[in-house]
Amino acid sequence: MKQDPIAKKDSHVKVDQKKTKAQASEPSTARLIMDALEQCVIYWSATGICELHNRRTFEVLELEPKHIGEGTPLEEFLTMGRDRGEFSTAKLRELLDMFQLTRPFQYDCQMPSGRVVAAKVRPMRGGGHVVTLSDVTEARRAVAALNVAKAEAEKAERKASEVLEDERARQREASLLAQMDEWLQSCKSLKELFDIVTTFMCKVLPGTRGQLFIYSNSRDVLEVACAWNCGSDQDNVAPDSCWALRRGRSYTYDPEELCFVCDHVKDAHSKEKKAGIYLCVPIVAHGDTVGLLHLEFVDESRNPGVIDAPAFITRCGEHISMAIANVKLRDELQDQSTRDSLTGLYNRRYFMNALSRELAQTASRQGNFALLSVDADKFKNFNDEHGHDAGDVVLEAIAEKMLALDADGAVVCRVGGEEFSILLPATDRTRASEIAEELRASIAEMRVKYVGGPLPKVTISAGIAIYPTHGTQAKELIKAADTALYAAKKDGRDKWKIAEGDGMIEF
Ligand code: GH3
Ligand code: MG
Ligand code: MG
Repeated sequence: MKQDPIAKKDSHVKVDQKKTKAQASEPSTARLIMDALEQCVIYWSATGICELHNRRTFEVLELEPKHIGEGTPLEEFLTMGRDRGEFSTAKLRELLDMFQLTRPFQYDCQMPSGRVVAAKVRPMRGGGHVVTLSDVTEARRAVAALNVAKAEAEKAERKASEVLEDERARQREASLLAQMDEWLQSCKSLKELFDIVTTFMCKVLPGTRGQLFIYSNSRDVLEVACAWNCGSDQDNVAPDSCWALRRGRSYTYDPEELCFVCDHVKDAHSKEKKAGIYLCVPIVAHGDTVGLLHLEFVDESRNPGVIDAPAFITRCGEHISMAIANVKLRDELQDQSTRDSLTGLYNRRYFMNALSRELAQTASRQGNFALLSVDADKFKNFNDEHGHDAGDVVLEAIAEKMLALDADGAVVCRVGGEEFSILLPATDRTRASEIAEELRASIAEMRVKYVGGPLPKVTISAGIAIYPTHGTQAKELIKAADTALYAAKKDGRDKWKIAEGDGMIEF
């Protein structure tokens, strides 16, 4: 029978060598203590041979006595561990190397049952290593569970901060739109509105360049109203060359997606330079498409805090649409209150205001201006012979001739039925006479077509008053011009006369 190695090696346990044979065969106290331990303990000699292990070894390492015993080589034991899948071949090599060193180390073994055993290796003074192995399955599981919980907490935190960032960006977008809206709503004219759009787009979307197009009066083409971060790539856009206008909704072109380049963009890009991502947003005012917002991405990274650029740009388009609708509505209302519906000329109210303004301005710069009172000759007879509708057509034709006069800044008004007034800023009597004659002659030569064929010739008579010669007050000037007009009528019509006070000149 082999002698108990603990009795031989452990210097702390005094073994009485002179004990009886029966007493000697009993396990030593040290052995009893070792066997009572929870952990597995193995002692490997300096030459790598198992010299001692406790009973727990079999249980902890799931082994049978044939697998390990005194005399088992370390390499054979570790190789068996590798073969059982406790660790990898690389780990085996590393462990063999580590056992050559004289410093403590530890490693994990994955038992066939799924348990995890942690090994702690401590080198002994005279060579050799004491290895303690303990079941750490629960501890490892707890650590793994803790790590999973930690990762989940971190993920949730990341998500929360993403949501917060998103919310902040959304708030920023909303505040930018509100700012733009405030400015747009206080626009007095489309020109002001276009200036605001340019400035706003440059500031808010510096990574983009774009243009705002508005339908021309003829409605066959859209013309550039304003542009930002680019020269005018396209001066105009044909309505049928844009997918957004044809489909009546925002259109995003992305070369990566299955979509097609608008013809107006194709025309603007050279063959070598393909179109990048761009957006076209129809501008709709009171249900009518009035324009197009076209926007290209130059540098997406410079887009400040706009989380969903296409959605943001579409919203910008909606706000611009609303503002254009408002300005147009205001213009229409203004027109309705200042213009005559038959001829489109300014009405009497506008004329009176314009005359007051002109009086004040001309007085302050000590200049002059002319006032023409114009009246269609024998128009009652004309109506009686050809009908009121034919008379209306003639009045429209007279208005056109007045608007076509070669007179800068002329304010042409229909002040009554067949009566007109023309304000001629910075105009003296000589120039006023030329203009009156130009008007008289052009109307006398005019041949108006009507449903039943060409209408007969219509003439006008006119009276001219000059500020300040014939008056410095509105009433005085109107009266002077009307008196001259009356004189022209009295003198046979199809004539113009200059007011009295400075010598009447007859044509
Ligand atoms: P005179 O050369 O002296 O100005 O003669 P007249 O017939 O033009 O003058 P009068 O003031 O007697 O008649 C003005 C006529 O203008 C009467 C009316 O039938 C016509 N008239 C006024 N307003 C309109 C309008 O809106 N449409 C048409 N068709 N005729 C109008
Ligand atoms: Mg009249
Ligand atoms: Mg008349």
